[in-house]
Amino acid sequence: MTNLPNWAERLVRVVARDVGREPPVVVWRHWRKPFSTSGVCYLEQDKIVITEGCRGNHDTKRVLLHELAHWITQQAHTETFYAVAFSLYARYAKRITMKSCREFEDSYKPRASAAGYARYRARRG
Ligand SMILES: [Zn+2]
Repeated sequence: MTNLPNWAERLVRVVARDVGREPPVVVWRHWRKPFSTSGVCYLEQDKIVITEGCRGNHDTKRVLLHELAHWITQQAHTETFYAVAFSLYARYAKRITMKSCREFEDSYKPRASAAGYARYRARRG
């Protein structure tokens, strides 16, 4: 892992441990402009690239967990992917509201996101 803030490195290690895998390679970069954080997960390479923006740690943490959900599921934006993403937000980002996580995900693939959220809720009982 390169250039990660401490909190992000800890988070990656904890999530990897909890799913019983070695952590992925994570490359951390910074936008030079005031954009939101963005991320990419390269499944074949077991690698995540995060480009940190200037909208604060909540934004960045959501993006990192989103990419970790790709890494865990090995899937694109499927219902299964979203169910796992929402469970990661609930488990590892307790200070970020689920409402903001849903807004974040719904803005991209609203139908799969809503179905994944329903599945995550059903699983929780
Ligand atoms: Zn994604």
